[in-house]
Amino acid sequence: PKYVYDFTEGNKDLKDLLGGKGANLAEMTNLGLPVPPGFTITTEACRHYLGHGGMPDGLAGEVAAHLTDLETRMRKRLGDSDDPLLVSVRSGAKFSMPGMMETVLNIGLNDESVLGLAKQSGNERFAWDSYRRLIQMFGKTVLDIDGDLFENAIDELKGDREDTDLEAADLQRLVETYKGIVRDKSGREFPADPREQMDLAISAVFDSWNAPRAVLYRRQERIPSGLGTAVNIVAMVFGNLGADSGTGVAFTRDPGSGQQGVYGDYLQNAQGEDVVAGIRNTVPLQELEGIDTASYRELLEIMATLEGHYRDLCDIEFTVERGKLWMLQTRVGKRTAEAAFRIAIQLVDEGLIDMDEAVTRVTGDQLAQLMFPRFATQEDDRRLTTGMNASPGAAVGRAVFTSARAVELAGRGEDVILVRRETNPDDLSGMIAARGVLTSRGGKTSHAAVVARGMGKTCVCGAEELEVDVAARRFTTPDGTVVEEGDVISIDGGDGAVYLGEVPVVASPVVEYFEGRRPDDELVAAVDRIMAHADSVRALGVRANADTPEDAARARRFGAQGIGLCRTEHMFLGDRRRLVEDLILAVTPEERQAALDALEPLQTADFTGLFEAMDGLPVTIRLIDPPLHEFLPDITELSVRVALAGDEAQDKDRRLLEAVKRLHEQNPMLGLRGVRLGLTIPGLFAMQVRAIATAAKRTGARHAEIMIPLVGAVQELEIVREEAQAILAETGVDALIGTMIEVPRAALTAGQIAEAAQFFSFGTNDLTQMSWGFSRDDVESAFFGRYLDLGIFGVSPFETIDRDGVGRLMRIAAEEGRRTRPGLKLGICGEHGGDPDSVHFCHEIGLDYVSCSPFRVPVARLEAGRAAL
Ligand code: PEP
Ligand code: MG
Repeated sequence: PKYVYDFTEGNKDLKDLLGGKGANLAEMTNLGLPVPPGFTITTEACRHYLGHGGMPDGLAGEVAAHLTDLETRMRKRLGDSDDPLLVSVRSGAKFSMPGMMETVLNIGLNDESVLGLAKQSGNERFAWDSYRRLIQMFGKTVLDIDGDLFENAIDELKGDREDTDLEAADLQRLVETYKGIVRDKSGREFPADPREQMDLAISAVFDSWNAPRAVLYRRQERIPSGLGTAVNIVAMVFGNLGADSGTGVAFTRDPGSGQQGVYGDYLQNAQGEDVVAGIRNTVPLQELEGIDTASYRELLEIMATLEGHYRDLCDIEFTVERGKLWMLQTRVGKRTAEAAFRIAIQLVDEGLIDMDEAVTRVTGDQLAQLMFPRFATQEDDRRLTTGMNASPGAAVGRAVFTSARAVELAGRGEDVILVRRETNPDDLSGMIAARGVLTSRGGKTSHAAVVARGMGKTCVCGAEELEVDVAARRFTTPDGTVVEEGDVISIDGGDGAVYLGEVPVVASPVVEYFEGRRPDDELVAAVDRIMAHADSVRALGVRANADTPEDAARARRFGAQGIGLCRTEHMFLGDRRRLVEDLILAVTPEERQAALDALEPLQTADFTGLFEAMDGLPVTIRLIDPPLHEFLPDITELSVRVALAGDEAQDKDRRLLEAVKRLHEQNPMLGLRGVRLGLTIPGLFAMQVRAIATAAKRTGARHAEIMIPLVGAVQELEIVREEAQAILAETGVDALIGTMIEVPRAALTAGQIAEAAQFFSFGTNDLTQMSWGFSRDDVESAFFGRYLDLGIFGVSPFETIDRDGVGRLMRIAAEEGRRTRPGLKLGICGEHGGDPDSVHFCHEIGLDYVSCSPFRVPVARLEAGRAAL
């Protein structure tokens, strides 16, 4: 393979091979912009070097040939003692990893060539300054010497002076000091041979790909670890030649707001790293106009050219050498979420991109960021602890420790934060009443996290440092701060921070827009146009997971085209628990039927509300799923109550205790739940189906879909289906009967299951739990951090579908299901339905829709649009 490309040979689309910097330098070269000549060593060479522990055959020869060519063009030789060519050796991976990898400037200087440089430039100070910079960067980067040693030496020499006040003789002395540091610390002389300097710098850049900070950065940013970096060898131009020279950075638009204009910084008489290091104060770019009008004008022209060419916001690094402008780098610039939407629409209106492209220029994550209220300020000194950022947003309120108290205070108009060790279905009312939820246990798929996300409520979970004492109504931090019931706290679901006291919050205009109010706002207008276009191109439908008419109504306002999951167990809480207890305690068929008869009208009313709220759109109702013991009192509490009461204990309590013991399971998640429950408790599923049928009839809903959970074998489904069909026939209602695919066996036997199912909905929460054998309730706090650190996965499989494992099961189920039943309707209703990457996967495997919590609906719509483009 070819390992080295001259800048004239590459282009911006070769980022995989040339890295971002190399590809863009080539692009600018070919646009005729003033780029210093140079060449790029490919990422392929890096991968070979890292994989085999040495440079690939042929690389040295190619580098030599390109260097000779460069020398010919520059009419100088590298490190020549009379008139040296100097080069920079710069890293540049496909994805920008700011400051993570290495760069060495001024390669080619030694004790002789520094004199040649001084003579040719007529600037002795400059020559020695360049030389000391080389030794400093080389020592730190290539020889791994502590950078502070060099910094301390220059600080000592400077005393009270600025770095620009150092004179040639000072810098010459500094070079000797630096060479001494190199000798002491690395046990070798600073290499005088220019080609050796260059080769060592190239290896150092390759090695820096695996430096710990680079590894960590890649993991955080989800950049694959196997890409490697390219190396750019560029003829040096000098911003440190005097007052008519300098270096700067610029943006073609404001990366914070998207406003067009001149944004950037300039530093006179300096090399690039001085700007980053902040050793002197830069001036606003506009001031370059007064310093060097010609260069300023040329820069503005080049910025316009780049924007027109890249059709996007660009950021730029440049150097002015004695009044001559040089471009050292450009790339499509990073920007805030708000700027991303505004710039995309600005570019459409300027005719630079079309709407398809505008949709691809923004992401669901950016939209989600715009939808959450935010804290207006950072309050690090008031931070109590940091937990997991389970559900975004910013919430402020008084700490309360029980749901009852949350409901009570909220009823009086107080804002409260519900603080629990962990939550359970009993806390629902408290969670609804609270502004936010804070728990000390459990991960991102714990009850608190899932339910809070569903409600769009801010949640920080697994804040393990907090000692939560519910009985005493307080929590304690490791440093002994005690927060009592009624104390105000603020929680940030975006970064997991917990603060003492009130941090000011700003609301999101984008949510107001989705809610149907139309704030007159440029950002909102941009979001509106992009969403409309995403909707017009997407193939995937978007539904919501919703259990109440209120959630259903919000989901519709947010653009949901139906309900993909109504979890009916949420309808058995509160006052109705008594009825469920009766059902569990029933001994005779008559008693059982009486309990079911009491539940049925309530369920009918529930479903009527949902059908009405959805006004003819499809509504998928899942029959009851969780183990029954979840509806019974806690075994310890109940045992104590019964024991204390002695002979006086109420008969019902005794029977409840017996039932709790009887129903107790070691692994309830793998136990008597879902379809197993329906097949075990006669009449339970039938009651629910009858309620659905009655509600459908009453409201004229024609798109009811009845969903059976936890099916693993077609036989289970057949039995339930037969009974359900009989009831539907009896009531004269037409409804689809389908199943969740959430047990691995169901995915693997989907061809059989499709015989009995009119639709599939992937329950990827359980499917992930059972495929990996990770408990969705416990696992994240226990060892996920470690797994993420070790790179076993880059992101939790409960957040983003694990394509290779769980995704493979989904693919198999989709294909084999449709082979049995062409046109089989396929959806997903696990938490992944609102995750951007997972939405793309669902598009790829041809699902009909995704279903997610109402607040994620806009994100799913946008990502479904992006997936289709
Ligand atoms: C699932 O398992 O993905 C699912 C949607 O069901 P639940 O989360 O209620 O178990
Ligand atoms: Mg499930």
